[in-house]
Parts: sequence; C-alpha cells; structure tokens
Amino acid sequence: MSRFWSEVVHGLTPYVPGEQPKIDGLIKLNTNECPYPPSRAVLDAIAAAGGDALRLYPDPQALELRAAIAAHHGVDLAQVFVGNGSDEVLAHVFMALLRHDAPLLLPDISYSFYPVYAKLYGIDAEPVALDEALHIRVDDYLARPRNGGIVLANPNAPTGIALELAEIERLLRGNRDSVVVVDEAYVDFGARSALALLDGHPNLLVVRTLSKSRALAGLRVGYCVGAPELIDGLTRVKDSFNSYPLDRLALAGATAAMRDDAWFADTCARIIASREQLIAGLAELGFDVLPSAANFVFARHPAADAARLAAELRARRILVRHFARPERIAQFLRISVGTDAQCDALLQALREILSQAL
Ligand SMILES: *Cc1c(COP(=O)(O)O)cnc(C)c1O
Repeated sequence: MSRFWSEVVHGLTPYVPGEQPKIDGLIKLNTNECPYPPSRAVLDAIAAAGGDALRLYPDPQALELRAAIAAHHGVDLAQVFVGNGSDEVLAHVFMALLRHDAPLLLPDISYSFYPVYAKLYGIDAEPVALDEALHIRVDDYLARPRNGGIVLANPNAPTGIALELAEIERLLRGNRDSVVVVDEAYVDFGARSALALLDGHPNLLVVRTLSKSRALAGLRVGYCVGAPELIDGLTRVKDSFNSYPLDRLALAGATAAMRDDAWFADTCARIIASREQLIAGLAELGFDVLPSAANFVFARHPAADAARLAAELRARRILVRHFARPERIAQFLRISVGTDAQCDALLQALREILSQAL
C-alpha cells in the first residue's frame, strides 16, 4: 500500500498467472501452453521481420494480420480486432462493450481474469453459478434479461467443458440487448465455434488467442471477431490506449501462423489424441475426469487431497495447476495436455504418489 496509489489501485485484486519457474527438466503442465514448437513458417517470418525494419513503427491497423485472420474464418476485415494477447483484447472489451449500468453476468467458475477486469473498470459483475456437474446453464442467464453483457469461456476454463452451439444460439436469441462475449481460447481442441452464429447476431463477439492452439503464448497475440460496430468501439478504446499493441515480430509471426493450416490441423489432432490417452490413464488411476474439449483436463481423486498431489508432483518437477478457491473446485487439478512422453511421466508420478498415500 502507498499513499501515492490511486483509490482504484488500492481496491484491485490482480490476476495471478500460473508460475513460470526456471527448473531444469521441468514438465510444465500448469498454464495450458502448447508442448510443441510453433510452425517453421512462423519462426522464419519472425526472423525475416527482425532486421533493419525494427527502427520503424509497426502497422497500427495490423492490416495484413487482420486480413489473414479474416481469410481464415471467412469474415470481413472490418469484423476483426487484434491485441497483445487475448487478455488485452478482453480488457478492451470490458471497457468498450461491457461497462454499463446493469450488471455483467459471468459464470461463478470461469477464467479468473474476468472479475479482475470488472474490478479494474468499475463494472458490477454478477456471478451465475455453474450447475452441480459444473456445466453452464443458459436458462440462468436468460432469467436475468436486465444485464450489461454476458461473458463466458467455451470450452469453459478451468473445467474444459464445452457448451453446445445450440445453447449459445439460445443465449443470443434471448439476450439481444447486450453483448455476449464467447472466449474461445480452447475451441480448437474440440468444441464448435460460435463464429457460425455471427450472421444475424450483431451482439456476438468471439474472442480467440494464438497462445494455445498456435503455440505462440510467448508472442502475445489474440483477436476477436464480431459485427463492425463492436470492432469500431474496441478500436476507439485501443487508439486511446496504445496505437501499436502488436510489434513487428508479433505481426509477422501471427500472420504466418494464421496461414499455416497444415501445422495447425496436425498439432490440434495430436493434442486431442494425447488428451484422450491422458483421460484414460487418469481414470485408470481412479481419478474422476470432467469431459474435456480443451488442451487440459480437470480431474479429482476421491482419496487424495489435490493440494497435496500438486505439491508432490512439484517435488518431482511436474507442474500442474491447483486452485484453492472457490471451494467447489478445491479438490481438482487442472492438467495441461503435454506430449505423450510428458503425460506418461505424469501418470507414472501419480501412480507412485497414490501408492504411498493409500
Ligand atoms: C489462456 C487464456 C486466455 C489468454 O490468452 P492470451 O492470448 O495468452 O492472453 C484468455 N482466455 C482464456 C479462457 C484462457 O485460458
């Protein structure tokens, strides 16, 4: 605390990201990064962009990248907004589109950055509880027609559970007077995208990231797709904040990534196959594993404390994520899908730990 801080800063509860420790031989399954390197085309594009041109500012409109994203999804350039990671895109979304008199609705268990942005921008956020099985219940949102917007992740984090496209459509139809933000950070690993619903739903905004399914968490690129009027609002905020959120290396790398369909399809398929093997292995060890459409699984063991499991794994240089709060998920571990070798090492370590504990 400091007397020089503004009142807002005193009231903040910042987001705590998963740790990024420097430990030799670490198996890192705690922040849902891709276990494989990015595509060769991305690395080449970054190398080519890194020369003499770095003395010049990058394109403030990110036209080439936005065109590549628009082409990939079959939408117009005017429907695409990019930012420094989808976290920055989300921050601008909260400021530009979700800050209204009525409360913002969001799942009580979801990406924990959402309430942080709400607090930062003075937005009243009303958590809507997931059901007993930790699923999002659309009816609970439709029962609150006076809202300042809805934000949810699909698949949800940290559960990994996907919402049916028909359910999102029902949400959009029943909630036409505020923006519905669908954060699709993990959609490429098995859920259906709400992008299919853009036509006829001017209040839909779909947020994506290159951090997970494009293996570019270190490059910091995210984007969103929606009606041009939503994009215009976001651009006004962005141009009141930072004209150049993406540097030349990020623009070049991300553009190449969006064009490399073969690498993308292959990598997603590998991770999905590893996930299914990991789920089977965990089930064999007695874990309850939630159905995952993401590059991570959310699992609990009926006879072993989750915090203890996480600590024992850490002692064996394997990092997974444990959330002590909320209480309802305190006995779960969120485990990112690694390479098959990493998943095998995790299962072997768990087998040892459980044999000692039981
Ligand atoms: C990882 C993640 C993000 C953030 O992605 P960046 O583009 O790396 O900022 C956003 N939403 C959810 C649900 C995520 O899990």
